[in-house]
Amino acid sequence: CGVFGVVGVANAASVVALGLHALQHRGQEAGGIVTHDPEQGFNSARRFGLVRDNFTDEDTLATVPGPIGIGHVRYSTAGSKGATQIRDVQPFFGEFSMGGAAIAHNGNITNAMALRRELIERGSIFQSSSDSECIIHLMARSMGRSIPDRMEEALRKVEGAFSVVAMTRTKLIGCRDPLGVRPLVLGQLGDGWVLASETCALDIINAKFIREIEPGEMVVITEKGVESNHPFRPAKSRFCIFEHVYFSRPDSILGGRSVYETRENIGRELAKENPVDADLVCPVPDSGTPAAIGYSLQSGIPYAMGIIRNQYMGRTFIEPTESIRNMGVRLKLNVNRALIEGKRVILVDDSVVRGTTSRKIKDMILDAGAAEVHFRIASPPTAWPCFYGVDTPQREKLLAATMSEDEMRDHLGVDSLKFISLNGLYRAVGEAKGRDASAPKYCDACFSGEYPVKPADMLEQGFEM
Ligand code: 5GP
Ligand code: SF4
Ligand code: MG
Repeated sequence: CGVFGVVGVANAASVVALGLHALQHRGQEAGGIVTHDPEQGFNSARRFGLVRDNFTDEDTLATVPGPIGIGHVRYSTAGSKGATQIRDVQPFFGEFSMGGAAIAHNGNITNAMALRRELIERGSIFQSSSDSECIIHLMARSMGRSIPDRMEEALRKVEGAFSVVAMTRTKLIGCRDPLGVRPLVLGQLGDGWVLASETCALDIINAKFIREIEPGEMVVITEKGVESNHPFRPAKSRFCIFEHVYFSRPDSILGGRSVYETRENIGRELAKENPVDADLVCPVPDSGTPAAIGYSLQSGIPYAMGIIRNQYMGRTFIEPTESIRNMGVRLKLNVNRALIEGKRVILVDDSVVRGTTSRKIKDMILDAGAAEVHFRIASPPTAWPCFYGVDTPQREKLLAATMSEDEMRDHLGVDSLKFISLNGLYRAVGEAKGRDASAPKYCDACFSGEYPVKPADMLEQGFEM
């Protein structure tokens, strides 16, 4: 998901809409905006679908007036069952003795089931099926005297990954979980302040990037400025390494590093680790493109757009059901036949999850007359599900959970299949010595199976680590 908030501007909702549009790659199922206006109080608008289809007309934006607002773009993750309902669309809103508050959450709460059970037993009435709603109910039960105090108390009971943007009538609040698994940045827009999942959402409104919110940090922003607290027990940060590989936009800056450059490095590492004689390096667009450029630069094999993407389709994996996903590949990608025919082709993609995408692409490439197909993957084999806010399927559905690399190669029916090593990936994100096994700098659980936060709900449901 993507989160965004702004305070101290004339028309918060239109700024939020632009920010959410820049974060659309983080979720395309639905979006929502909440604002507050001194005369009209809190207002919200929640819609299924894309920001540009829902939040660009003046009539809609006029329903959410005021100088402060937050927003959310959603895609459902591991915990959610069935299709998204409008009541699951964030931001969530709660009315407390000291006034209202709205929150938008990116990540996944790993003890949400246990919390929900407890809260329901004690009288909370849940409206949605979302794990994020727990935060509002925990805040309602808190005895804290201000909304930031209540939020702090609530978030101390929550485990897992959270980057939260919240608002009261006058305050914009941002918080990252102690490990800082998901991103959150701070920006300045004239006299106003902005919080956003990624820096690309600051660029679109021409806001100035100030800094990242630190892991475990909570900021409370008013028109007077930014107040910072560290309410959690200090911990070593474990940012999601997959944000660098796939999830974030290549024009964003993460941890002081350009995501694009990191991806190009990944391609270079991949070429060093897994060279192969071929005629062309082609990306599986768009997610494989920077890594393919890196692979081509490192290997000297020409880069070519052997697969063309229809720009009017979204990300396939964000479609929640298997049947839509299956159609997705052909709706989205087509082989550039004139270029491929008779060629030995290296295909670079960011990840193999279920293997559906890779298999279909291989079929299309062979149909077009390629002489050989070599897959090079910009992440290690995805052998474990993510419980921190990225939608990976159950372990049994992950190709790498049940097959060796050679078995995967045969299953996909390609001439070769190679993944970047975990050490190579760490080198590409700037860790010269690779992964420090005793204290890894990133979360890499989907590749290593080492979960930095115990996935309590999943363990309760029989998941074996
Ligand atoms: P597959 O077809 O192997 O299930 O999905 C792999 C493709 O989906 C890749 O091309 C990649 O761009 C995209 N993808 C990236 N991350 C994820 C993820 O976390 N989950 C899923 N299901 N797909 C992803
Ligand atoms: Fe990121 Fe993978 Fe960790 Fe999930 S399990 S937070 S996708 S590195
Ligand atoms: Mg892809």
